[in-house]
Amino acid sequence: MLQSKLFTRTRKEAPKDEVSKNAQLLIRAGFIDKLQAGVYTYLPLGFLVLKKIEKIIREEMNAIGGQELLMPALQPKELWEKTGRWNSMDDLYKLTDANGKEHALGATHEEVVAPLVKQFVSSYKDLPFSVYQIQDKFRAELRSKSGMLRGREFIMKDLYSFHRDENDLSIFYEDVKNAYRKIFKRAGIASMTHLTLASGGSFSEYSHEFQTVTEAGEDIIHICKNCGVAINEEMIAIQKDCPECGGKSLETRKAIEVGNIFQLKTKYSDPFELKYKDETGKENPVIMGCYGIGLSRLMGAIVEVSNDENGIIWPDEVAPFEYHLIGMSGGDGEAPRQAYEFYEELTKKGHTVLFDDRDIGAGEKFKDADLIGVPQRIVISSKTIEEGRVEIKRRDEKESRLVEREELLA
Ligand code: ATP
Ligand code: MG
Repeated sequence: MLQSKLFTRTRKEAPKDEVSKNAQLLIRAGFIDKLQAGVYTYLPLGFLVLKKIEKIIREEMNAIGGQELLMPALQPKELWEKTGRWNSMDDLYKLTDANGKEHALGATHEEVVAPLVKQFVSSYKDLPFSVYQIQDKFRAELRSKSGMLRGREFIMKDLYSFHRDENDLSIFYEDVKNAYRKIFKRAGIASMTHLTLASGGSFSEYSHEFQTVTEAGEDIIHICKNCGVAINEEMIAIQKDCPECGGKSLETRKAIEVGNIFQLKTKYSDPFELKYKDETGKENPVIMGCYGIGLSRLMGAIVEVSNDENGIIWPDEVAPFEYHLIGMSGGDGEAPRQAYEFYEELTKKGHTVLFDDRDIGAGEKFKDADLIGVPQRIVISSKTIEEGRVEIKRRDEKESRLVEREELLA
């Protein structure tokens, strides 16, 4: 992509009312724009990152057999009354249309998915299976000062699984746990993301969350120094020992929940009478699990943990581009010409490149490159041309090095 054609620009200052680091950096660098508190537009750069995150999640969900679908956000009141959540869910957006009919804007999709799959499940032979979507969610969050970490309209991957018994659910539950580990590893935040035990309410002893350690987080977790598993303080009374490995040393940190996995069991199959017949013809309730990841929150969490005083540092697999190419202007114009040629060659080879072809000073180009945070910066100047090479620097390293053009193209 030619940077001169990008309709957005970087900004020196973030909006005054934006206090979170993730939103400040994402807005200044031109990834997102704020429409109102907790509601953002994904600008072209932010959209590229979102698609990268989506790709990772989609691949890992498909790998464990998840079938992708897309459910509506506009949902009839009756479904929410069936589960009691029309009245009990404080952050549910409710609206009345011109015909006087009431709707909920989907905050989550158990109320849609349970009656949906009911049409297709009758026998044990129809189980197990799982469905997921990547979709907009709406929640009237009280606090919305955390930028992408807490949206009022945000993007979630929600997976729902359906089983004949709890044993079958627990097998799939482990598959999801492993898929989540892969997702957070590919998203570049594995080292600060901890499997966390949280209270499972009345359904099971623990549910599991994936918590990313950051000062911007709203949860307090106690991380076992021995096995790395954490306990969420909000829900489980503080313990001295790690419930997972018995480790004696726990470290207290602030963290943000980037994903969770939950054994719903019959909580939603009961109100919707979602049942199947077993081998003997006996009717049993379908056992359900649900598993969420906030994509927009994940984008914000990555920025919170991966930045420096100059801007964002994108991990490779979620970065908007592989390379940020800068052609130094001045001289006889040879550097910009060769840079453009190199841009075309790299692109032809299938690499993704943001080419700063703007007619501005080098200092400004370098500043923008640091702010935007593409993992590798390539500079072509009259000096590098003389040596027949290009200068390359990783965003997360201080030193640049000179490499042969052919080496990069290979
Ligand atoms: P929290 O305790 O942070 O409010 P939650 O328990 O309400 O989270 P779930 O309803 O289980 O979260 O949603 C699943 C996932 O969706 C969460 O793990 C998180 O990644 C994401 N998520 C939840 N609320 C938001 C929000 N307001 N903005 C962005 N992502 C969110
Ligand atoms: Mg919540």
